[in-house]
Amino acid sequence: MTVAALAASAGTGEFGHLDEQSKREIRCALLTAVAVPGYQVPFASREMPVARGWGSGGLQVTLAVIGPQDTVKVIDQGDDAGVNAANLRRLIVGCTGVPDTTDAREASIIQTRHRIPEEPLRPDQVLVLQVPVPEPLRGVERDMRELRRMHAESDYSRIWVSLYEDLVRNGVITQSTGYPVLVGGRYVMATSPIPRWDVPKLHQAPFLSLFGAGREKRVYAVPPHTSVEPLAFEDVAFQVERTEGASCLLCGATEAYLVEVPASKGWICSDTDWCERRRPPGGGAGETGLPGAELAGASGNARDVADA
Ligand SMILES: [Zn+2]
Repeated sequence: MTVAALAASAGTGEFGHLDEQSKREIRCALLTAVAVPGYQVPFASREMPVARGWGSGGLQVTLAVIGPQDTVKVIDQGDDAGVNAANLRRLIVGCTGVPDTTDAREASIIQTRHRIPEEPLRPDQVLVLQVPVPEPLRGVERDMRELRRMHAESDYSRIWVSLYEDLVRNGVITQSTGYPVLVGGRYVMATSPIPRWDVPKLHQAPFLSLFGAGREKRVYAVPPHTSVEPLAFEDVAFQVERTEGASCLLCGATEAYLVEVPASKGWICSDTDWCERRRPPGGGAGETGLPGAELAGASGNARDVADA
């Protein structure tokens, strides 16, 4: 799926859970979002067969852009087998009949909660992110009218002040997920709850990223080859999570987003598909001596920030 395909797809035949009018409306909102990168576009969020807050925004985006030629992958915290991912995948496949895959290389649409795959994505792939809170300035302002003014006038002084206060109080910027970024040099955007590790993957990416917030009725986008800069001070650089000496117990990766396995005090890749493909033939979980239950207990966002 490319931006051109998104534009061309408006008006194709009946397909998926949403009716044609709903799909057309969501695609129009998405095209506006692509035209104004990082800008939150209101849309008439539909009631979906999942509760709002469980990926209904991402689901509506996926069902609005998906076609019979697509192959879909759904992940939750990097894991294809996560409960949220499994439910959404069943729903998407059930109402569209498209094939699904866990292999990030085979998918044309990847719907995700909390991660961007480690596998570098291509121009013919589209990433759909489920967003709980689309407003990056929510922490510094609650009034909707004032928020609109701040975005309209690029008045982002208060988020800079909050980052500075965080830095002074804690010695580092502690915001770990949903790190605010400046998109196309114009709009400050929430990156959805992806770890800092994934934020640089959005900068000048070859692929299209679509963000859907069902409960808050907003979509936004990062089109291919768009500048996405994390808000950082000139003398305090943006840093991704990194733990010195940590490597994946299963595949040995050091250059991946790792999550801690509490029982063994070790680490494993958060991206299960990527990790499985890297493991030596015949190796894998069995060789580590880790029971499945221990691996299942791995928790996200557990890496320390370098130099913290
Ligand atoms: Zn691994």
